[in-house]
Formats: sequence, C-alpha cells, structure tokens
Amino acid sequence: MVLAATPIGNVEDASARLIDLLRHADIVAAEDTRRLYDLARRLGVRVGGRVIAYHDHNERSLSAGLLDEVERGATVVVVSDAGMPMINDPGTAIARGAIDRGLPLTCAPGPSAVLDALTLSGLPTDRFCYEGFLPRRHGERVRHLRSLRAETRTMVFYETPHRIADAMDDLFEEFGPDRAMALCRELTKDYEEVRRGTIGVIRQTVQDDPPRGEMVVVVAGASGREAADATESVLDVEGMARLAMELSKRDDMRVKDAIARVVEEHPLPDGSLMSRKQVYSAILAMRG
Ligand code: SAM
Repeated sequence: MVLAATPIGNVEDASARLIDLLRHADIVAAEDTRRLYDLARRLGVRVGGRVIAYHDHNERSLSAGLLDEVERGATVVVVSDAGMPMINDPGTAIARGAIDRGLPLTCAPGPSAVLDALTLSGLPTDRFCYEGFLPRRHGERVRHLRSLRAETRTMVFYETPHRIADAMDDLFEEFGPDRAMALCRELTKDYEEVRRGTIGVIRQTVQDDPPRGEMVVVVAGASGREAADATESVLDVEGMARLAMELSKRDDMRVKDAIARVVEEHPLPDGSLMSRKQVYSAILAMRG
C-alpha cells in the first residue's frame, strides 16, 4: 500500500517514483479518476493497473477489499486530487486498516500545500501546527480561533476564496491587528503569490484586492506575553462572578451587562463562552 503525493499545481513536481507507481502499480485508488487520467496524460504516462474511484464517500466501504488485494501481494497506490493523501484528503481509512492488519504501508512523499506555504511564509518553522480548514460558520470559527489564543506555534490554515474575507475579520478580532502572517495562493502555479505582513495589513489587501484560487493562511504563534495573558484570562465560574460584581460596582454597571462583558473577555480554554446564567447563579450564591 503506497500513499503517493501528486503535484499541487506544477506538474513538474511529480516525482520519478510517482510516475513509476502510476505505470506499474496493480491498482491505483484515485480520489477523482478523471483528474488522475488528466495528470497521467500531462506526465505522458500510461496507467498500467486497474483504476478505482476512492473518495470520502466510499473510502470506508472500499478499504477492506483493497487491503485484501494488498494481502494477496498487489501494489495499491492511493492518490488524491492534489498533494498528500490524508492531508484534508481521503486515505485515512485505508492507512489505518493497513496498520491494523499489519500490511506493508509506505509513502511516496512529495508536494503538499502545508509545507510549501509554511516555508514561503518566512515565519518560524521549528514548531508549527496544521489546522486544516477553519469551520465554515462564523460562531464555530470564532470559537476555534479563541481556543488558539495561547498557541505559540506557527499555525497553518487552508482557506477558500469565498470565505477568506470573513476569516480575516475573525483573525483580526481574535488575534489582533499586529500578529505576523502570510497569505500564500496558487502555489507552484503561474500566478503564485505570497502576501506577507500583519493581520491588519493583509486583511486590508484582501478587501482591496480579493485573492482568488487556492490559498493557505499562515499565522505566527502567540508571543510568550500573549500566551500568558490568554492563559491567565481563563477564569472559573466563581472567578467570573467575582469579577462581574466588582465591575458592576466600580463602573456603576448593570450586573447583567457586567456579566456579559466578563464572559466575552474570558473565553474558556476550548474557545467557548461560559453560560451567563451560571455566572448569575454564582453571584446569587455568593450574595447568599
Ligand atoms: N492534500 C492537499 C495537500 O497536501 O496540500 C490538500 C487538499 S485540500 C482538499 C485543498 C486545499 O489545499 C485548498 O483549498 C488550499 O487551501 C490548499 N491548496 C492546495 N493546493 C494549493 C496551491 N497550489 N496553492 C495554495 N493552496 C493550495
């Protein structure tokens, strides 16, 4: 079983090993068979073995049969539309199955937008985390970004042209305007572009000149100070109740408004917000 990377734009990034596998493997399990044949045509390769469509919707049902073939001695190659299988692409079920059954599993590595963008970003590469696509819905996206406030590693996100403007607004809101980042698009293609700057600056360029095509967002991790602030700002329900009472007294604020402010400013470690009702109950309990 071979997990093989395919080019993410520039066909010349196909490795000699990938070409050899396409020619000689017994079975090629491809996310989209038309894309596979198109790649083979551009590489001038004739796919020698059986080609099977293997995608998110059938990967579980097809895996067992493909693994049986490996057990019988066949070479099965798994390719996705672009880049590394399993990196936001199918392949996990079959790789997991091969490991569980003790079958030989290897990788023919090659292009992947994660490392391409990370290296081009100019941001620290010694420690990074891959975050895949941010959630589509605003509320979930904000919650997810909040959960990353104390993340000190460089973060790599995949994005799409129709969500990038909203994502930039949320990054601006949650990480502030000054954090360094890079927006890398159309990597390895003719119109490859890397925009480097702060979140505030890149957000403005996204508004003025909306980026098109495939893109990756790379964001610097939190500084030690930012991470400490994010960690220290986590309070339990009693802590929030105490703070809300102080705030309400100090600023002559309605308790309800003070609770809303405290809850908003002190997200929980998973990025969610404490229930206002719970904070209110804690205040009542404290007041006896
Ligand atoms: N398996 C792929 C990999 O290893 O990079 C990722 C597949 S994922 C379904 C597709 C996303 O990867 C795109 O929406 C984009 O965020 C990113 N991507 C893929 N090719 C890219 C490219 N040439 N330039 C920038 N981003 C790319």
